[in-house]
Amino acid sequence: MNKLRLRDLEVRGKRVLVRVDFNVPTEERDGRTAITDDTRIRESLPTISYLRENGAKTILMAHFGRPKGKPVDKYSLRPVADYLHTLIDHPVAFSHDTIGKIPEEIIAHLNEGDVTLLENVRFHPGEEANDPAFAESLAKLGDLYVNDAFGAAHRAHASTAGITKFVKQSAMGFLMEKEIQYLSHELAKPAKPFVVILGGSKVSDKIGVIKALMEKADSILIGGAMANTFWKAQGVPIGASRVEADKVDLAREILDLAKKKGVRFLLPVDAIETQKVEAGSPGRNTGRVTPTHGISDGWQAVDIGHATVTLYEDEIAKAKTVLWNGPVGVFEIPAFATGTIAIAEALARSKATTIIGGGDSVTAVTQAGLADKMTFISTGGGASLELLEGKELPGIAALSDR
Ligand code: ADP
Ligand code: MG
Repeated sequence: MNKLRLRDLEVRGKRVLVRVDFNVPTEERDGRTAITDDTRIRESLPTISYLRENGAKTILMAHFGRPKGKPVDKYSLRPVADYLHTLIDHPVAFSHDTIGKIPEEIIAHLNEGDVTLLENVRFHPGEEANDPAFAESLAKLGDLYVNDAFGAAHRAHASTAGITKFVKQSAMGFLMEKEIQYLSHELAKPAKPFVVILGGSKVSDKIGVIKALMEKADSILIGGAMANTFWKAQGVPIGASRVEADKVDLAREILDLAKKKGVRFLLPVDAIETQKVEAGSPGRNTGRVTPTHGISDGWQAVDIGHATVTLYEDEIAKAKTVLWNGPVGVFEIPAFATGTIAIAEALARSKATTIIGGGDSVTAVTQAGLADKMTFISTGGGASLELLEGKELPGIAALSDR
């Protein structure tokens, strides 16, 4: 990627605006906001530490939740500033406004190595509208710009894209670099066999990814609700399972394409079915799925079955590179998480390069306690999918060329 990197910048004594992804899951505990997964904050530490060690004045910008262009208390980044303070063991001055007098005053008093976090950029309507005036107000606060918010790089917003028009140099941070390294460079020429596991709720969300990966994958293993649409395309009864009826033709097209390209395209051979998709609702194995025997009338497929797990484990065991996106079942309900956990364990056992992309798949791997067994886990949901599709992300495209 022919873009400036953090190490290319002369940062000492400079005010460096850094867009980070601090959009972390939280919950209310005793009337306070508690961060339930700090992965995204931790992943931004290499960039923040580098800037501090090299004498920059670091100005962090981030979004949090969906306040829709106006201040909303519960979407304040204040708790994140406090949390970051404990992580870096250095004060993090919190700026109660994103632009204007308040941050200007704070930044004027920063010393080399100091850090400030600006209030949620989405408290201003100009952020998501990518309004040039708002972008310019942000840019005025600093001298240089670094984008380390991979999870927001697929959005052309003021703090991710527009701002680059108003600063001298814009570079990618270390996290951004790492995401591109794995999701783009490593997968451009993956070590073979290259096995892709695709699950999740919709074929339509993943269609671009399926088509792009069809060019490189040796096998594609399908799970999740997506499998239902493929089954329907093959005439397998799917009962009351979640399906995209208007995507059945598309599913058929993909099956044909796989045949033409010689890609092993595997659908589940059995499933766990239930009458209600809720905790406590009993599940049972369907037995072998065929064009005449599938999901029972009124029942829904909610997980892959044991035979499918074994089949997929064998594929994974042969792989040199594995990419996984999308849980293979309704993993939020423990009784229907078995298949997803088995896949995570197979990846953990594998000696292959294992790359996980997509919000819920990452949650599943983390919940299974297997995150540290994977080669790379992306912090981006939508952004990782778009990068896998081979799309140009606005937040990367806007950075200065080398
Ligand atoms: P990711 O965020 O990893 O890209 P998706 O958002 O595409 O994954 O899909 C995750 C969702 O898919 C989960 O909420 C899960 O419950 C749902 N899901 C998986 N399998 C099924 C199924 N068989 N029926 C209904 N929903 C499913
Ligand atoms: Mg998701």
